[in-house]
Amino acid sequence: MKNIGERVKEIIQSLPSHVTLEAAAKTRTASEAREAVDAGVKIIGHNYIQQAQTMKESPELAGCDVRWHLIGHLQRNKARDAVEIFDMIESLDSVKLARALDKRCQEMGKTMTALIEINSAKEEAKSGVMPEDAEPLIREAAELENLRIEGLMTMGPFSDDPEDIRPYFRLTRELFDNISRLSIPNVEMKYLSMGMSDSYLVAIEEGANIVRLGTTIFGPRPK
Ligand SMILES: *Cc1c(COP(=O)(O)O)cnc(C)c1O
Repeated sequence: MKNIGERVKEIIQSLPSHVTLEAAAKTRTASEAREAVDAGVKIIGHNYIQQAQTMKESPELAGCDVRWHLIGHLQRNKARDAVEIFDMIESLDSVKLARALDKRCQEMGKTMTALIEINSAKEEAKSGVMPEDAEPLIREAAELENLRIEGLMTMGPFSDDPEDIRPYFRLTRELFDNISRLSIPNVEMKYLSMGMSDSYLVAIEEGANIVRLGTTIFGPRPK
């Protein structure tokens, strides 16, 4: 079986040059993440503040040249921690959260970059904004001085067949293009984060330029 480093190198070689590999590192150890970084991973994504903090402060990753992204739902009362730990929030999904992040950034003298998470399949139990609410949210967030919106993220519905997810990636891509065309001041539509281990090839076909891979890099998650 290949090790993490070999898998990362293989994936990076196989990706089109405009696509960035993000390692989705929930439940992984710091040394596993370090292997991925040594092999070329430039972004580590985490779902939970605590796991990100522990990993970021570990001796294995201290001082590593890697960017930290939040890819899980963020509660407003954790905005301060999030601003401290992350370089990007990929899961911004409400004006209230945007305001909370802006306030904490102001206090800490930081600017936070963020992607708007789209609930592309309009699933009730999923986080993210409904596609039609993305533009109003972006317009409001664009008014905040310490926040910069740089694109969209989506998960899509769960399915074993990536073709089932393709329409939701496509919808998110169309939304991305439509919002780009509006040229909203203070908004720069650069990143489209879509696709996980089972679906990233389809996501890239539909325009993703960040793919978030966990099991393809690290192997099956321990139960
Ligand atoms: C876990 C996770 C991933 C990666 O999932 P895999 O199927 O292990 O590649 C990507 N994005 C988010 C938001 C995740 O929670």
